[in-house]
Amino acid sequence: MPASSLLQLLDEPVAAAHGVRLLLWRDDLVNPDLPGNKARKLKYNLMAARHQGHHTLLTFGGAYSNHIAAVAAAGRLLGFRTIGLIRGDEPAVGENLNPTLAQAAADGMELHYLDRTAYHRRGEPAFIAEQLARFGPAYVLPEGGTNALALPGCAELVAEIRQQVDFDALAVAVGTGGTLAGLLTGLAGQHHAVGVAALKNGEFLRSEIDALTQATAGQAFDNYSLQTDYHFGGYAKYSAELLVFIQQFQERHGVLLDPIYTGKLLFGVLDLIGKGYFQRGSTVVAIHTGGQQAWAGWQERFGSKR
Ligand SMILES: *Cc1c(COP(=O)(O)O)cnc(C)c1O
Repeated sequence: MPASSLLQLLDEPVAAAHGVRLLLWRDDLVNPDLPGNKARKLKYNLMAARHQGHHTLLTFGGAYSNHIAAVAAAGRLLGFRTIGLIRGDEPAVGENLNPTLAQAAADGMELHYLDRTAYHRRGEPAFIAEQLARFGPAYVLPEGGTNALALPGCAELVAEIRQQVDFDALAVAVGTGGTLAGLLTGLAGQHHAVGVAALKNGEFLRSEIDALTQATAGQAFDNYSLQTDYHFGGYAKYSAELLVFIQQFQERHGVLLDPIYTGKLLFGVLDLIGKGYFQRGSTVVAIHTGGQQAWAGWQERFGSKR
């Protein structure tokens, strides 16, 4: 995929009315085997894992996690053994794995299940040491893949977009904040970034983002805003309005958004444009971070909602 074709103009009446040029960066198309921001976040972690002589990746995630999907695929493609410690109960004998976990297993990931109490301890050094004693030496990736080494891979996105277009602002969905933090280090204080939180009460994310950029770039940046009004009830929550928006967006632009992150991002960006958030004449690049693998499990859980 040539980089020039990763940028798509979004012809939206609200953008025209407010004099904003809105573009979509299709990071979901960069690498079909490892799409989206989870691959960006893994890049330098996998190099570190190799460098440290590891053959195994161990990580944590929910049963529908894009990060679990990405680690399993990376393991298959790059020859790592992968272990996924999944929040929740082990499926009963004879019960099918959900589509995310079935694909992860097909990619060779060994799946183990942690109950609420155990999963809650996933960040504790003592708990991680117990898991390493259980499974053997491994490079440990946190839930969602966000750590200091996740940032440089996301920062590279800034230069890639910059080579294609002069922009005034980037917009991205926020879960843990690792991707936005990486973009901020790539921007290095120039231009603006907008993060749209995919979860409720996302105000805490600002300090997480600032801590991540502080640890990586030695400073917190203030050229960004965190939008916390577009979560639609919380993480993986939705409304009919959101699903209709996603469907109509696909009809208008031929692009499938995901229901957890990028649907909320584009809804939020268009709403912000309508409120005059971006200056007339500005170029805004929204980043499609992937996540479409979630739809299979979504349909299984909620029925054919799209
Ligand atoms: C994980 C994810 C995000 C959020 O990334 P963070 O670095 O956790 O903020 C955004 N979009 C998609 C599709 C994701 O899978």
